[in-house]
Amino acid sequence: MNCNTGAILVLSGPSGAGKSSLIKKIEEDIGAYYFSISTTTRAIRKGEVDGVDYHFVDKKNFEEDIDEENFLEYALVHGNYYGTSMKPVKKALKEKKLVIFDIDVQGHDEVQNRLGDITTSVFITTPTLKELKERLHLRGTDEDKIIQNRISMATKEVQRISEYDYLIVNDDLNEASQKLIQIAKAARMKMTSKTISNFVREWESVS
Ligand code: 5GP
Repeated sequence: MNCNTGAILVLSGPSGAGKSSLIKKIEEDIGAYYFSISTTTRAIRKGEVDGVDYHFVDKKNFEEDIDEENFLEYALVHGNYYGTSMKPVKKALKEKKLVIFDIDVQGHDEVQNRLGDITTSVFITTPTLKELKERLHLRGTDEDKIIQNRISMATKEVQRISEYDYLIVNDDLNEASQKLIQIAKAARMKMTSKTISNFVREWESVS
């Protein structure tokens, strides 16, 4: 994908780590941004809205989109497909927006491979595994089997924190959101190799 403008901020971390609350809390402080609404085959949860939280589709639809190469990245998470559609991301990047993804470690890997030059990534987690378990049970949106699934995913995902630029331990929401605002601002200033080579060429041309 050839997008000379805009920047990407990838947020990953276990479900229950507070990514959604964090995004809501920082939205007025980070300038023009586009939050990428993923497409998923998982069942809609109570309180979720189609087209707002996700685009909820069936497996057949999702697989058609895979075949037509409509996804920037996609992954199987907890037995369901999740993917990021390419089109709105391209548009937002052209509009110089900060594009925010809430995707898993597999998705992050793919985005780094394809758009690493303009990508900044943050892993967000609870202070401990115990606290994650407590939050997932308190949330009350998932059955025990699904919670078990999420916990085992989380223990695998934390092993890959070193692949991220930053780690935010979401113990205190205010403190965590301040950190995320700083990271979001820095993400916009990330230099691509093209920007650097253009700058060096112009810098040298004025001697
Ligand atoms: P949940 O079912 O709790 O909404 O999300 C489960 C996991 O799927 C989370 O780790 C979330 O970051 C990840 N996820 C959501 N959307 C996408 C996506 O488009 N691509 C990938 N790779 N992961 C996603």
